[in-house]
Parts: sequence; C-alpha cells; structure tokens
Amino acid sequence: MVAVSLAGSMLAKHGDRYVVEPWLRSILAGKTIPAIALTEPGGGSDAANLAVRARRDGDDYVLDGEKTSTSFATQAGIAVVWARTGPPGSGAYGISAFLVPLDLPGITTTEFEDLGGRCAGRGSLYLDGVRVPASHLLGAENRGFVQVMQGFDYSRALIGLQCLAVARQSLDETWASAAERESFGKPLTAYQGVTFPLAEAETHIHACRLMCLHTLWLKDQGLPHTAEAAMCKWWGPKLAFEVVQNCLLINGHGAYTTEMPYEQRLRDVLGLQIGDGTAQIMKLVIARHKAARKGVAM
Ligand SMILES: Cc1cc2nc3c(=O)[nH]c(=O)nc-3n(C[C@H](O)[C@H](O)[C@H](O)COP(=O)(O)OP(=O)(O)OC[C@H]3O[C@@H](n4cnc5c(N)ncnc54)[C@H](O)[C@@H]3O)c2cc1C
Repeated sequence: MVAVSLAGSMLAKHGDRYVVEPWLRSILAGKTIPAIALTEPGGGSDAANLAVRARRDGDDYVLDGEKTSTSFATQAGIAVVWARTGPPGSGAYGISAFLVPLDLPGITTTEFEDLGGRCAGRGSLYLDGVRVPASHLLGAENRGFVQVMQGFDYSRALIGLQCLAVARQSLDETWASAAERESFGKPLTAYQGVTFPLAEAETHIHACRLMCLHTLWLKDQGLPHTAEAAMCKWWGPKLAFEVVQNCLLINGHGAYTTEMPYEQRLRDVLGLQIGDGTAQIMKLVIARHKAARKGVAM
C-alpha cells in the first residue's frame, strides 16, 4: 500500500503523462508493483550523497551503479531510481529521478533473507549501462532530489498508520486472551499489572493515530507537514514494537513461538524503524523544521 501510494504519486505528479499513464493503470489494476530505489551500499541516511550515475547520451540517459535495500527488488515491474546527473560533489542539486522499467537490458536484482517484512522481498538492483529514454525523467534534471522526494512526507504518515494497525490488532487480541486466562483463581484482567500496560498502550496508540491522521489532513489542506510526518515515522514503528512486545509477554510462553502471530509482528514493525529513514534522521528533520520556523540557529 505504501509503495503504491508513494511511487504512484511521484509518477503522477512529476512524470510525462504519456509515459507514466500506462504504468499507473497497471499499478492500480494490481498488475505492477513499483519500487523506490534510493538507498545505496554507501549509506541511506545521507541520501543526497548518492553515487549511481546517469549520463545523457542522445535521446537516452545511461545509468550505472548499485542500489540496495530496495523493497520488492525482485518482484517490481518498475522503480523510481535516483541518480547523479550533476558533477561529483553536486549534492542534492545534481540528482535526477527516473522511471526505470526493470526488464531493461543491464538490470539484475537479488533478494535478501530479511528478519521480517518478508513479503516485501528487499534486495539490490545492479545497473550496468542501462539505457532509459529521456522521456522517463521525473521532474526536472538535477532537481529530482528536491522535487520528487517531497512524496516521502506522505509515506511517513502511512507507515505510522501501518505499524499502529499491527499494534491495534495485537492489543485487541490481548484484551480477549487476558480476560480468558486465569491465574491465582482470577482472570488476568483482574490484575492492574496486566491491565495498566494495556491501558497505556490504548492511550499511546490513540494519540499517535490522531497525529498520523492530522498529518494527512495537513497534506490535504496543502499546509506544511514535513515535521509532523517525521514525528509519525519515528514514533509509530517504535510504539508498535513496544506494544506488540508487551502483548507477547502478557500472552505468556505460547506467544514466544511461531504458533502465535506476535513474533512475526515484532520482526515486521522493527524493519519499519529503519525503512524510509531512521528515528535519528526523523528527529533531525523535526529539529531543522522547528528551528527554522522559530528562527533558531542550529
Ligand atoms: C524494511 C526496510 C525497507 C526498506 N525499503 C527501502 C526501499 O524500498 N527503498 C530504499 O531506497 N531504501 C529502503 N530501505 C533502506 C532505508 O531507507 C535505509 O536503511 C535507511 O535510510 C538508513 O540507511 P542505512 O541503513 O544505510 O544506515 P546509515 O545511513 O549507514 O546509518 C547507520 C546508523 O547511523 C545513524 N545515523 C546516520 N547519520 C546520522 C546522523 N547524522 N545523526 C544521528 N544518527 C545518524 C542512523 O540513524 C543509523 O542508525 C529499507 C530499509 C528497511 C530496513
């Protein structure tokens, strides 16, 4: 859902209509999965420091280099790929974004054996002299980082909601199982040691969910929401992990097996503390935006 929304909105907003429309139809029909290829082996946090090259050659760009940690690497039909079109050291203003069909000659992919989120088949893309028509440029040349990356604000709120849904489900199931199971002659829900963590989780999930919805509302109003989206992205996955961990403990030894869903949920939401930017990077984003709005030096 997040990949489709994120890549789909980037194509719709920044692509040549005649190039992107067939892909968007295929994505919406559920026939094509899009991937986002930004991270490289050299690091993901400092994304503007990327090394994959794209050089103009006639009516094409020729792409060379390696992208890694790409969700759906082996399943996707297309990827949004960021590559350097400016000189080395040109930073965020020398990067362009491309729509790259993944069946083009020169592309190979591999898949990792991940701890969680296995359906997303994270892996690497190797680009070896891949010729992409110039019409597949998204946004303006050398402005792909600044223009196209804005879509990440939206996906950050969605990732928060995605993780909170996992926490919500775990919490609902745990209220029910705690009411059924007895110790010392009473249901577990008779003990505040059990219900207070659940009550705290109810409070935090409610607050974080409202924050995600408020962020999406700001987006709908056309109002700034970069800092708010970063708040959703660092808090949602972390909170979900903590809630699922508590639910696992309240469900006892049986929840520490693959017979129950909690171990898988823990592994799945843990990955989203990293994917789309870590908590440290989200806090940098929040601090920069708040400092700028308040005119405070950093
Ligand atoms: C499940 C999952 C799905 C992913 N899907 C995609 C995808 O589809 N497409 C894609 O392009 N990428 C994807 N990624 C990659 C992800 O975006 C990067 O892993 C992430 O941005 C961090 O980059 P890195 O792993 O290279 O860590 P690094 O950038 O090497 O950072 C390592 C550690 O140092 C910390 N750090 C770095 N700089 C600072 C700083 N200035 N201050 C404080 N701490 C700092 C980081 O927070 C991190 O803890 C995915 C990752 C995961 C786990």
